[in-house]
Amino acid sequence: VYNFCSGPAALPEAVLIKAQQELLDWHGKGVSVMEMSHRSDEFVSILTSAKARLSRLMGISSDYEILFVQGGASGLFAQIPANLCHGFDKACYIDTGTWSSKALKEAKKYTDVVVSGSTKSINYTSVPDFSTLNIDEAAAYLHITPNETIGGVEYMDLPQTDLPIVADMSSNILSRAIDVSKYGMIYAGAQKNIGPAGVAICIVRKDLLERSNDDALPTTWSFANLAKNDSMINTPPTFAIYLADLVFEWLEQNGGVAAMEQHNIAKAELLYQAIDNSSFYSNPIDVRYRSRMNVPFVLADEKLESVFLAESEAAGLSTLAGHRSVGGMRASIYNAMPMAGVEALVAFMKDFEQRYA
Ligand code: PLP
Repeated sequence: VYNFCSGPAALPEAVLIKAQQELLDWHGKGVSVMEMSHRSDEFVSILTSAKARLSRLMGISSDYEILFVQGGASGLFAQIPANLCHGFDKACYIDTGTWSSKALKEAKKYTDVVVSGSTKSINYTSVPDFSTLNIDEAAAYLHITPNETIGGVEYMDLPQTDLPIVADMSSNILSRAIDVSKYGMIYAGAQKNIGPAGVAICIVRKDLLERSNDDALPTTWSFANLAKNDSMINTPPTFAIYLADLVFEWLEQNGGVAAMEQHNIAKAELLYQAIDNSSFYSNPIDVRYRSRMNVPFVLADEKLESVFLAESEAAGLSTLAGHRSVGGMRASIYNAMPMAGVEALVAFMKDFEQRYA
């Protein structure tokens, strides 16, 4: 089965096999990682390894802290303004789809929000023209969602601003090379390109930690407090962090982010070509901003969609339904999706078209 689920998503098979081998007895300790104290030397070594590997993979300098948090990326939609707006009265957001709108809606509970640009009027099929952005340089930060998981819009150029840029990379972290030093903060829920659900990762520039007002924030919410306590104010999601470390190890063994990026470009090209070369399938996104990770598409004849989904599932191509809010189809092709999976999908699509067009 090739699993095209948008998240929790397919993990590399090699990682699952290793986790299975170590499940009952981690490194000869006679216990599972799930059963270890988070304060034990063993678990601390896992957490330290995960941070070191992520730093190497993404080129994260010592100017940044890596935090493991609970509450998912959605929790961070609130935690970010709660931490970073101390001393400011507004934050800027670029609205490119469902996830950025959710992030800005949550931020409004904590601060005034300036919508610096939005593509809502064109149904979120593109990215705002940067020359028309309304960025208030007195704001606490500029928030962006470089990959909209539901809409399938991805952009990596950064707007010109002196504000710290805060990026929700939940669905494209580690899928392509980026220059971390251009960001104030990068965050991501784990359950797509990092590991299982239960942990989210924040990469925060250290000077921004000074904004966390520990007296006003819930103890476990403060980025400064999390950094001081090495993400262990309370019990962290130990097993999820362990699996993230195994995924990072797998990435290092497979050429790192640069190799993943080439692999992801090739997979996305194959799938978009199949869609574009047919009048039976279509993808509505501005070609300049099509996501390499999440590829939504519809059939010219909407009535055939349920047939497509039932037959593809039966053919071992799992979870191709679009998000419940938009319908249609969506293939999520994160790092762990092999080229063979995309080839199988494209072959199925051609065959389906021949039978039903
Ligand atoms: N941001 C993006 C871009 C996402 O794709 C998702 C989930 O799919 C989220 C945020 C929410 O993540 P979580 O479920 O970890 O709160």
